[in-house]
Amino acid sequence: MKPLAPAPHPVYSLRLSLTDRCQLRCPYCLPGSVAPWPEKTRYLSPEQIARAVESIGRSRPVKIRLTGGEPLLRAGIETIAARLGSLECVREVALTTNALTLNKHAEPLLAAGVSRLNIHVDSLRPGRFRAWTGGDLEAVLDGLHTARGAGFRHIKVNMVVMRGMNDDELMDFCEFARREQVTVRFIELMDTGCARDFHREHLLPVREFRAKIRERFTLEPMNGHDLAAPAREFRIVETGARIGFIGSDTEPFCAWCNRIRLSAQGRLYVCLYDPYGADLAPLLHSGGQEELDRLVERTLKGKVSYHPLTAGGWRPRFSMSEIGG
Ligand code: SAM
Repeated sequence: MKPLAPAPHPVYSLRLSLTDRCQLRCPYCLPGSVAPWPEKTRYLSPEQIARAVESIGRSRPVKIRLTGGEPLLRAGIETIAARLGSLECVREVALTTNALTLNKHAEPLLAAGVSRLNIHVDSLRPGRFRAWTGGDLEAVLDGLHTARGAGFRHIKVNMVVMRGMNDDELMDFCEFARREQVTVRFIELMDTGCARDFHREHLLPVREFRAKIRERFTLEPMNGHDLAAPAREFRIVETGARIGFIGSDTEPFCAWCNRIRLSAQGRLYVCLYDPYGADLAPLLHSGGQEELDRLVERTLKGKVSYHPLTAGGWRPRFSMSEIGG
């Protein structure tokens, strides 16, 4: 059977990883004390990133989300963001961060043209947060407040829901959304293969945590929903808070997906579950513009409307931090 392409979307949503390093050790992403990163990891230079984006932009305009690993660990991130924002094909530059060092980056990022922020935090209890990730919750919240003070609007907070770990905090996060005036998105744990036992034990399907919240609150769907957006967003009628749900594995949205990913080393992926990706690095290092454009075009045409999970196929093992979450 010929693979189906997703419904055409006018814009590519590019997750652009600036580094695969992160200070946190989330148990489903970089579990345990990982081996040190190889010293000589070769990341694309700002110049090469811009060339890759321009090549993608020949097919469709691009919305960029800078990610990683932890993108704020990449030296010169503001310069990279500004450079990308100045490209003709780029419609928006956004950022996903753990916010640990956001307090010192918020203003420069805004000045560099970063327009939207997603902050990732899985627990609002400092002891838990530290025990699971090794990080300091206070620094994260300080980052969020600094960003808001600097002028970022519509900040989104991502919480990965884990059965028996933080599913007792669902209501706390709903209250957090109201108090902090942020959209909290509850994310289903994905099986990326790097923590398979953990996934088996702690997966809570999106329909279950959505039902728990519905037992307590009335949820009104938000208008103007982009079908390609991963989250289904709602307004809590009783409090006015905004929340969303993402269930990539059990409620996939592949048919409308416009997401593509570029790793920090230069691999272009048309799906998170794309096992190999296309290695753009040799052409980015050597120059060949036409060859690069051809490879990018061929790769983008290979985007299909399902991922190996829904196709019942083989699943690669990876961590989001490698590919760019
Ligand atoms: N360091 C940044 C951060 O913490 O948001 C950006 C990178 S992180 C890999 C991006 C997102 O991927 C985070 O919201 C994280 O929780 C999510 N993520 C990583 N592994 C995941 C998994 N197995 N299932 C669901 N979400 C995952």
